[in-house]
Amino acid sequence: MLIVFMVTAALIGFRLVAEMVLSAVNRAEVLRHADTPPPAVAAIMDAATYQKSVAYTLEKSRFGNITTIFDTLVLALVIFGGVLPVMYSYMVSWAGPDAVWTRTVFILLAGVLLSLPSLPFEWWEQFRLEGKFGFNKSTPGLWVMDKIKGTLVMFAIGFPLLWALLSLVGWVGNAWWIWGFALMFGFQLLMLILYPKVILPLFNKLTPLPEGELRTRLMALGDRTGFQAKTIEVIDGSKRSGHSNAYFTGFGRFRRIVLFDTLISQLTAEELEAVLAHEIGHYRRGHIPKMIAISAVMMLSGFAVIAWLARSPWFNTSFGFPVGEIAPSFLLFGLLSGLVTFWFAPLGNLLSRKYEYEADAFAREAMGGPAAMIAALRKLAQKNLSNLTPHRWFSGFYYSHPTLVERELALAKT
Ligand SMILES: [Zn+2]
Repeated sequence: MLIVFMVTAALIGFRLVAEMVLSAVNRAEVLRHADTPPPAVAAIMDAATYQKSVAYTLEKSRFGNITTIFDTLVLALVIFGGVLPVMYSYMVSWAGPDAVWTRTVFILLAGVLLSLPSLPFEWWEQFRLEGKFGFNKSTPGLWVMDKIKGTLVMFAIGFPLLWALLSLVGWVGNAWWIWGFALMFGFQLLMLILYPKVILPLFNKLTPLPEGELRTRLMALGDRTGFQAKTIEVIDGSKRSGHSNAYFTGFGRFRRIVLFDTLISQLTAEELEAVLAHEIGHYRRGHIPKMIAISAVMMLSGFAVIAWLARSPWFNTSFGFPVGEIAPSFLLFGLLSGLVTFWFAPLGNLLSRKYEYEADAFAREAMGGPAAMIAALRKLAQKNLSNLTPHRWFSGFYYSHPTLVERELALAKT
């Protein structure tokens, strides 16, 4: 139907324009400060590092524009080009008209095919862009292996899960979406526990942080802050990238803290302690169950929308698919939902930044002052060539963490 076509085209256009505007104002802001950084920034980075961070930010922004335009073209072509319905009717004919497995394979295969056009861009980003600034540590062989392994893992997990979701319609009828949500949410919780144990080791090596001063120190911090960790693990992030990070996964008994080896090599023991205190802050302030609850609500809404779209005859037919088929509705939702959720990203990021401030405050308290946390954040910004002068609109829209200057201000406040 024409109206659905037009609304979809408009949504694609709006998002592209918004992305381009945000990126343009951000580049202008970075260029405005390129010669003389604001005093707060000059205190954080020496002149040479600052110049490098400006160059890195601008180059990433330009490259990001090219991939954004390209991805938008691919999406429009796939949605309006009529390839998917042809592929669908062909694949459904492989088995009986009600076979679920052909539809499952259709969705997964469509996902793989849609990711192929952006592969050259990903390659360029890793080996040219990141490489130019010294961040690439991967090799072509490792990169190709990662892609192959990633696809296999996607099929191994995606097939049974999608198959069960699509089968639910036949098993429980109209209320399938509530069961679908329950299945998917249960799966998500399970992955929080299994991911670091089963999936991550396929790509990285995790080793317990060895005995020594650092471990003793971090364990003492855990005892002091009410977070009895069994182990702290180190991940070999340096295998692929020079960027550094720390993260925290799981919940309850299954929580775990993982530090990048790059982080350990860049920070002093005291700074690492502050970073870990920040991560423990997320745990102690209850951010993890809150985030899980929010994602559950979003997921339930998503399922309700898919169920509604699948019931609405105009939806599938507008994109060339047969009415009453659930699999195409799933795929179309996967392709198009981002056009709407994009506009809600700032809300999620606003909440995320609030949590970051709370975790920083927790770290300040645990460390008996802001000095160690500020030192750690500064070093990370220097090593990662972070953009320290983003435009307000850009950071407000996209940043899950406050900017370094904002975090320092909050940390220094008593
Ligand atoms: Zn954090």
